[in-house]
Amino acid sequence: MASAAVLWFGENMSAVPLRSSKTVASAARSVTVLGATGSIGDSTMDLLRASPDRYQVEALTANSNVAALAKLAREFDARFAAIADPNLLEDLQDALAGTGTECGAGESAVIEAASRPADWVMAAVSGAAGLKPALAAVDRGATVALANKECLVCAGDFFMQRAAKAGACILPADSEHNALFQALGSGNREELIRVIITASGGPFRTWASADIEQATLAQALKHPNWSMGQKITIDSASMMNKGLEVIEASYLFALKPDEIDVLVHPQSIVHGMVEFSDRSVVAQLGVPDMRIPIAHCLGWPDRIVGPSAKLDLAKIGQLTFEVPDFKRFPGLRLAYDALRTGNGATAVYNAANEVAVAAFIAGKIRFGAIAGLVEATLEDWMRSGNQAPLTSADDAIVVDHIARNKAATLLPQIAAKAS
Ligand code: NAD
Ligand code: MG
Repeated sequence: MASAAVLWFGENMSAVPLRSSKTVASAARSVTVLGATGSIGDSTMDLLRASPDRYQVEALTANSNVAALAKLAREFDARFAAIADPNLLEDLQDALAGTGTECGAGESAVIEAASRPADWVMAAVSGAAGLKPALAAVDRGATVALANKECLVCAGDFFMQRAAKAGACILPADSEHNALFQALGSGNREELIRVIITASGGPFRTWASADIEQATLAQALKHPNWSMGQKITIDSASMMNKGLEVIEASYLFALKPDEIDVLVHPQSIVHGMVEFSDRSVVAQLGVPDMRIPIAHCLGWPDRIVGPSAKLDLAKIGQLTFEVPDFKRFPGLRLAYDALRTGNGATAVYNAANEVAVAAFIAGKIRFGAIAGLVEATLEDWMRSGNQAPLTSADDAIVVDHIARNKAATLLPQIAAKAS
């Protein structure tokens, strides 16, 4: 991990707040949802829908689905709606004609949405495209529920330092990190031994390497427990998602790679655990429903009434745990390697994986080649001597672009090797 200012849950400099630092009023708050039409966006809108008097929607954004964005903007009487595709401004304006909602299009409009004065921002754009909008919310000191893990994976040190500097409050919305956030308050930094994030193991948990290698898109999209967007579902099948989450935890809570363990837990009931020096292990549990961590972020520092199902442990009967298999799921090992390397390696890991997943969806490479492409891109980047600390969003975006181009160049030979 690259050297970072100590940013931790129990320290004044932290962008991730202490449970006891209750500063946010529980009265009505203005909210913005970046990526409102996605899976996390959908869960967030569902929670807002349940308490319409409690929230005023400032801004909503989407990539290209004008109809879905306009529908939400009308329903929630949003002040501003932004579509990332610059060619769709007129369509959005037409769809919102007669409403008081202002419209914008292009990347700058998504950033404007994040810059507008909402108390609470859900950062749920998918991929590296989420970095600049999330930073815009961070820079004005907002409370940011962070679902977009790529912000941390691409530019973790820098992102957390900017958040601390601006006095922004980062609330982890990813279920495992939200679990850690809830458990970490039970002790102090010097008492922490390690954190454990759980992984369902995905649809290929029990499959042999040769079968994983040949898995189809339909098989990869059949997640046993969670209902999520397409990209993250494929990442769960490859366990790249857990790799991204190890990196995410490291930056979010300023933890060394050795302080983060992964445990396969097929039932997805225990989401994260923290072990302290007295050997107490504090865990957060709940049914696998993203509305639980999102509700925790939305209510924080209080708790709101959530719509999710009650956890019935007697009905579930058994919770089981397994050590992850780094051989069958090399993407997880590569994440630890990238984290130890630092200086942009985690951004390369993420970019190469995004290229690999897109190629897999397009039928250009086999499932087993996803990790192969990430490894080849990381190796090439190590040889290039381009490693350096990332000190701006543009630095991170440059590394992201270089890695994407390199991954695209390496793609044909990896595709040929895997077939
Ligand atoms: P999704 O693909 O379902 O939705 C993505 C959203 O971002 C959509 O609203 C889309 O319109 C928007 N978007 C996509 N590309 C964009 C671009 N270039 N510019 C602007 N907007 C763009 O994704 P998701 O599953 O909701 O995941 C969102 C983020 O949350 C990801 O970073 C993911 O890793 C993270 N996350 C998701 C889950 C989950 O359960 N889905 C859990 C934990 C973390
Ligand atoms: Mg997660």
